[in-house]
Order: sequence, then C-alpha cells, then structure tokens
Amino acid sequence: MAMNSEELAMLRESLRALLDEIAPPEVVRGWDRADYLPPELLARFGELGITALAVDEEYGGLGRDINALLMVMQEIGKRSTILAGLLVHCTNYCGLNIGEQGSEAQKRKYLPGVAAGTMMFALGLSEPNVGGDLASVETRAEIRGDKVIINGAKRWCTGAEICDSIYTLVRSGPVENRYKNLSFVIIPRTTKGVSTTSTGTMGMRGIPTNDVVFEDVEVPIENILGGPEKLNQGWSQLAGPTLEVEKLSPCALAMGLGEAAVEAAWNYSQERVQFGMRICGHQAVRHTLADVQTKLQTCRVMMKESIGMLERGEPSALQTSMTKLYLSETIRDIVIQCQQVMGAYGYSDDFDMERYVRDAMVLPIFGGSTAIQRNNVANMMRLPRS
Ligand SMILES: Cc1cc2nc3c(=O)[nH]c(=O)nc-3n(C[C@H](O)[C@H](O)[C@H](O)COP(=O)(O)OP(=O)(O)OC[C@H]3O[C@@H](n4cnc5c(N)ncnc54)[C@H](O)[C@@H]3O)c2cc1C
Repeated sequence: MAMNSEELAMLRESLRALLDEIAPPEVVRGWDRADYLPPELLARFGELGITALAVDEEYGGLGRDINALLMVMQEIGKRSTILAGLLVHCTNYCGLNIGEQGSEAQKRKYLPGVAAGTMMFALGLSEPNVGGDLASVETRAEIRGDKVIINGAKRWCTGAEICDSIYTLVRSGPVENRYKNLSFVIIPRTTKGVSTTSTGTMGMRGIPTNDVVFEDVEVPIENILGGPEKLNQGWSQLAGPTLEVEKLSPCALAMGLGEAAVEAAWNYSQERVQFGMRICGHQAVRHTLADVQTKLQTCRVMMKESIGMLERGEPSALQTSMTKLYLSETIRDIVIQCQQVMGAYGYSDDFDMERYVRDAMVLPIFGGSTAIQRNNVANMMRLPRS
C-alpha cells in the first residue's frame, strides 16, 4: 500500500538525516573530483527501507510504492545526482523490471537483494551503432541447447563495472524482423567473456560509464528475462509499465538538481553585494530568480500529474513522455540561469554550481532523449506525417 503523507514526511526526515551522515556536501564534491562513488552506500538505503519500496512484500519488500520511490530519488538527487543514480540501478533496472517481467525463479533470486540494497543491475541497451534506435541492436544471442551464447558490445552502460548483472537487450533471431527478434538476457558481470572499460564524462562523475564487450559469453537459458518461453519478447518487455517509471526517474533526479541550483542561487543573491546593494535587489536578478522558481513549479505540477496517473493506473505514456521532454530541457535551462546569477562563482569549482551545470547537461540526452520524446508525443497524438 502507498505511504500516506505523514509516512512520507517521516521517511523524508530520516532520509535527510542519513544524507547528512553519508553524503555531506564536501563528501559529494570529493566523489565528483575523484570520479568515484562508494557503491556500498546502496546498502544504507536498504537499511532505511528505501530500496524495499520497489519490491512486493512476498519477495521481502514493502510493496511497490512509486510515489514514495520518486520522492526519495528527488530528495537524494538534491544532494547528489550520482547517488540517486546508484539507487535507480537497484530499484528500477533490477527491482521494478524483474518484479514486472521476471520469471518466478528470477524474482526469488534477485528481489530480496533489491529490498536489502545489495543488488544492482546495469542497463545494457545502447551500443556503438545504436542510440535512440533500440530496435537495431546488434549484440547477438544464440541458443545452444540449454545455454545462451552472447557476442557483441554495449556502450554507455552506466555502472557495468560495479553491478551484479547487466540487463542486456540482444538480437536473438534474424535481423529482418526488427521488433520480434529481440530478447533481454540477464548476464552476471563476472561471467567469463564479459569485459568492461571506462569512458570519461563531463558530468555525473563518480558512477562509471562503461563500454562492455561480450565475447562468447555463456549463460543458462533460464537467464532470458521471464524464462526461456520469453525468447524474442524483448520489445514488448521494454515497453511495459515500468518504462513510465523509467522516464520519470531521471525527472525526479532532475527535480532534485533544479531545486539545489535554485536554492544556491537564491541564497547567493542575498549575500553578494554589488553597486551598493545585495544583488537580489537588482531587478534583472530578481526577475531571473522569479523565473526559475516559476519554471520549477511548472515542473512540480507535471511530475505530480504523471505520478497521479501512474498511481491511478491510467494510461500515462503520453504524459510521461511530455514530462521527460519538458523537465529535462527546463531544468537544464534553470540550472544555467542559476549559474549566471552567481557570476564567476558559478563557474568556479569551489562552488557546487559548476557541478550542477555539468550534471544538468545530460538530462536531455539520457533515459530517452528529448528528440525521441518529441517523436513519441507527436506519434501518440496521431500527428499525420503527410
Ligand atoms: C551519462 C550517460 C549515461 C548513460 N547511461 C546509459 C545506460 O546506463 N544504459 C544505456 O543503454 N544507455 C545509456 N546512455 C545512452 C543514452 O541512453 C543515449 O545516449 C541515448 O539513447 C541517445 O543515443 P545516442 O547518444 O547514441 O544518440 P543518437 O541516437 O545517435 O542521436 C544523436 C542525435 O540525433 C537525434 N536523433 C536521433 N534519432 C532521431 C530521430 N528519430 N528524430 C529526431 N532526432 C533524432 C538525437 O536526439 C541526438 O540529438 C547513457 C548516456 C549518457 C551520456
């Protein structure tokens, strides 16, 4: 059952106390500089019952509570986008996906670890030749007896080198039938033939962005998502209800990031004095700050509407695509406006703002780019092509 507002407030309070302990601002800055986030912090979220919000009670969870989960992601994202990202790899890529699409055996194997915060998956969709056009994946899976043999490469596979398994989209039949010959296979990271290398990124530093190569990787046929009978069902598994939560999760991170940036600029404007007054007294700065607060409020309203639709079980694909599109670009723009308020100090690595900007630049790219969301919106609203 979903938490009521009192329970949500208590959870938020406990989470804030935990974040003050494990992720004070100077520690978060250190993760970015060292490009390293201790993955074992995930278990601390498990202790607080946060990761259990993605798991049904019969598998050791608290029952799936999407509203609470997204609230938590936002709260963590306000402190550290990568720490919130780590949570997503546990709760979404493993917890919600396995809960929705996994076989009974897979649920029993993985979900208790999600509830405890000790299990995380990497998401292996993108490839060197495949970005938005996921139906073109080239990584091949061949069935040999009771084994699946995988060969190919994944790119931008966040967290692959620290995950337990890679939730991998593969081509499991002839390429001609693009949408029908795709499958998901769960590939344990330590399987022989799996290798990872790291790619440097502008933002989201601390959680590794990996290239993954699969060379004659052999896993049991039971590792096909949902079991062997789900071979070639990958496309419909990709488009299940969890996809809506996967669109909203980067939005929750973005909301946290936007709130952090606005708070920093708002406070800074009341400290910095130029031309004999605090800069919040200059009309241009006042208007910028009023604009970013207003834009942030429109983002909150869109999120609330999307979550409400999900909770009521209403079809929400159009709404979540609009939300992902609007929030990604709006919050990126909000963060850049906040940087401007802080002048040179917004550009200095002595302040968090420059990290906020670097992290914000990925928002319209990952988790379904804004161009793909625009296509979704126009298609779902049946805009004719000719
Ligand atoms: C930090 C980071 C982490 C990531 N983590 C993961 C991960 O964990 N797992 C994973 O699988 N992927 C991950 N990705 C990859 C991400 O999902 C892709 O970058 C995204 O899908 C876009 O693919 P692409 O970059 O190859 O761009 P492309 O698809 O090559 O697109 C290039 C440009 O063309 C535009 N474009 C493409 N097709 C169309 C079209 N039909 N109509 C209009 N415009 C179009 C795009 O919007 C973009 O501007 C990550 C990326 C980053 C940067």
